[in-house]
Amino acid sequence: MIKLSRISKSFGKNQVLKDITLSVEKGEVVVILGPSGSGKTTLLRCLNYLERPNDGTIAIGDYTVDCKHAGKKDIHQLRQKSAMVFQHYNLFKHKTALENVMEGLVIVQKLPKEEARKRSVEVLEKVGLGAKLDAYPSQLSGGQQQRVGIARALALNPEVILFDEPTSALDPELVGEVLDVIRKIANEGITMIVVTHEMSFAREVSNHVVFMDGGVIVEEGKPNELFGAPKEERTKQFLKRIT
Ligand code: ADP
Repeated sequence: MIKLSRISKSFGKNQVLKDITLSVEKGEVVVILGPSGSGKTTLLRCLNYLERPNDGTIAIGDYTVDCKHAGKKDIHQLRQKSAMVFQHYNLFKHKTALENVMEGLVIVQKLPKEEARKRSVEVLEKVGLGAKLDAYPSQLSGGQQQRVGIARALALNPEVILFDEPTSALDPELVGEVLDVIRKIANEGITMIVVTHEMSFAREVSNHVVFMDGGVIVEEGKPNELFGAPKEERTKQFLKRIT
C-alpha cells in the first residue's frame, strides 16, 4: 500500500537518507528502530512531505509521486493520505482539545462544522478524553495532550498514521496510557509507522520491524526474526545496548 523507492535526502552536504526502499502493506504496524541521528524522523517527514526528498518515488495507495518533479498537487495529495503524531504534540495552545481536533477537518478537509465536531468528539472519546473536550493543552497532562495529538491524526481518517517518537517527551508514568491508545488503534487494523525506543511495545504490537543506521535500512523483518535472531552485526550491537 505504501512503497518508497530509492529515497534520498541531504541537508547541505549531509546525506541523511541514502537510497531507502521500503514497502508497507495495508494494516501493517511498522516500527522503525535505530540510533539517534540515523534518519528515522527525516524518513517519516519525507513520507508526509514535511521534508522534500531529493530523489526517489513515494507511492501511497494508487498515487505515485516522483520526488524530483513533485508539484503542489502531488504534495497536497500525499499530505491528505497520511497524518503525523509528533514527539512534542504540536497542539495549538489557544485552542481546546476539541478545536485542535476539528481544525484539520474544517480547514483542510472542508467538512461542515457540525460534522467535524461530531467526528472530533467521537475520536476524542476513543482516546479516553470524552470528558476533556473543552480543556486547553495547558490544562492537560503530557499523556492527555499526546492523546489529543493521536485523536487529531485519527480524525483525518488517513491511509497511514506516522508516529514520531510519540512517548519520548513524556514522564515515565504517562507512557503507558499513550501506548495503550496506540495499541488499541493498531488492533483496529489502521496502517501505521512508528518510530520508537519502546522495545517491548515494538515487539508486541508491530508486524514489521525496520532497523536504520547511518541513513540506510540495515535490516528488516518480522519482530521475532529481528529481535530474536538479528542477522547483521550492527543490529545485534544496537539491540544489546538498548534492551
Ligand atoms: P533520528 O530520527 O534517527 O534521530 P533524524 O532524522 O532526526 O534522525 O536526523 C538525521 C540527521 O539529519 C542528523 O544528523 C540531523 O542533524 C540531520 N537533520 C535533521 N533535520 C535537519 C534539518 N532540518 N536541517 C539540517 N539537518 C537536519
